[in-house]
Amino acid sequence: MPIHVCPVCGRRHEVSSVLDRLAYGRFLTCSPKCKTSLAGLVRRRTLAEMAEAAGRLRRARHAALGDCTLRSDMQACPDGLK
Ligand SMILES: [Zn+2]
Repeated sequence: MPIHVCPVCGRRHEVSSVLDRLAYGRFLTCSPKCKTSLAGLVRRRTLAEMAEAAGRLRRARHAALGDCTLRSDMQACPDGLK
């Protein structure tokens, strides 16, 4: 039986070879409780990545348009409309 390390609690546990094949190289959780926690973990990580990407985009836009956009993201830059 293949051994998986639970990505939530770190416990080593046996997984049936069928499930191991279905996991495509990822480690499976050891219990339904850990599976639920993993869904929350993944959701938090995805939201954090989305927030980070949005912040990066905002910073890149500020850098590209100059400091007149620092007043507001939505406001048109008056210096840019000459
Ligand atoms: Zn676990």
